[in-house]
Amino acid sequence: MLGPVILAASRSDRMRRLISAAPVTKQVVDRFIPGETVADIVPIIKDLTAKGLELTMDVVGEDITTPEQATAARDAYLALIDHLKDLGLGERVEMSVKLSMFGQALEGGHELALANVRPVVEAAAAIGTTVTLDAEDHTTLDSMFAIHEELRKDFPQTGCVIQAYLFRTEADARRLAESGSRVRLVKGAYKEPAEVAYQQKHEIDKAYVRILRTLMEGEGYPMIGSHDPRLIAIAQELAHKAGRKLDEYEFQMLYGIRGDEHLRLAAEGHRMRVYTAYGTDWYGYFMRRLAEKPANLRFFLRSMVSKG
Ligand SMILES: Cc1cc2nc3c(=O)[nH]c(=O)nc-3n(C[C@H](O)[C@H](O)[C@H](O)COP(=O)(O)OP(=O)(O)OC[C@H]3O[C@@H](n4cnc5c(N)ncnc54)[C@H](O)[C@@H]3O)c2cc1C
Repeated sequence: MLGPVILAASRSDRMRRLISAAPVTKQVVDRFIPGETVADIVPIIKDLTAKGLELTMDVVGEDITTPEQATAARDAYLALIDHLKDLGLGERVEMSVKLSMFGQALEGGHELALANVRPVVEAAAAIGTTVTLDAEDHTTLDSMFAIHEELRKDFPQTGCVIQAYLFRTEADARRLAESGSRVRLVKGAYKEPAEVAYQQKHEIDKAYVRILRTLMEGEGYPMIGSHDPRLIAIAQELAHKAGRKLDEYEFQMLYGIRGDEHLRLAAEGHRMRVYTAYGTDWYGYFMRRLAEKPANLRFFLRSMVSKG
């Protein structure tokens, strides 16, 4: 019940100001967003890759309002890619981008986002890695898929995300399960209306399994974005049934959530990629993490009361 309320708050400027300014917020935020700058994040990248994990990096900041901010977002990713090149970690670390941060919601946003994301995809390819387009709320997805298709003409390895809670996703998965495609399947983290999305957890989980089967039986490269132990076990079973080898799919989880499981799956020989967010504009990302698990909200509120 709390999830939708928190997701609504994630769109409120007043709540953003309140929560961002709370004295204890940063300590709780650090669990999910472990740094603000490239300098903060480089030791984490080194540590996780040394443990046998791969990463996908998200420079947080989705609610931009000017084209200059979109250009700054592009430049932040380009600077990160430069660092990865120097570290020689290009092949272990990919980029996750939200097109809203590249200007998608501004006037002429589709073209603007495409123009801003293309240099990032080019720079990533030059150091041997890839970019995955995150899925945001359902109103942005036609544009995201069109940009994905456009980028794939030159960079076929560009990935995208599909969300099991949306009714449209089974059809999207069939279209995307083709040779060379990289598709991350997640449950979905936004507040979506009943006209477009399943609302009940059991319906979303069932849809996840149907879509996962399509991806596993298809020709592409499935990326299982979930912490759900049941779905992870089902994914392993479906991969086995589809005759996939361990390097023909991968698991992905968020930094700060079920860290032991990251290591367990990697130790079993799975490719395990940790989605690692960093940056200063963490509000939207943080609120979605609170919404996913009410215990996080309780912990957050308790720390405000005890320290405030
Ligand atoms: C790599 C990755 C990329 C993602 N990219 C996108 C995207 O592009 N678009 C999008 O809409 N969504 C994205 N998501 C979020 C996703 O949609 C879900 O909201 C999120 O993964 C929670 O769902 P779950 O599959 O882990 O299952 P759940 O049933 O929500 O969780 C299963 C278990 O995982 C643990 N857990 C899950 N979430 C949390 C949390 N926040 N804090 C603490 N424990 C938790 C709990 O133990 C829980 O019982 C992404 C998720 C991952 C893992």
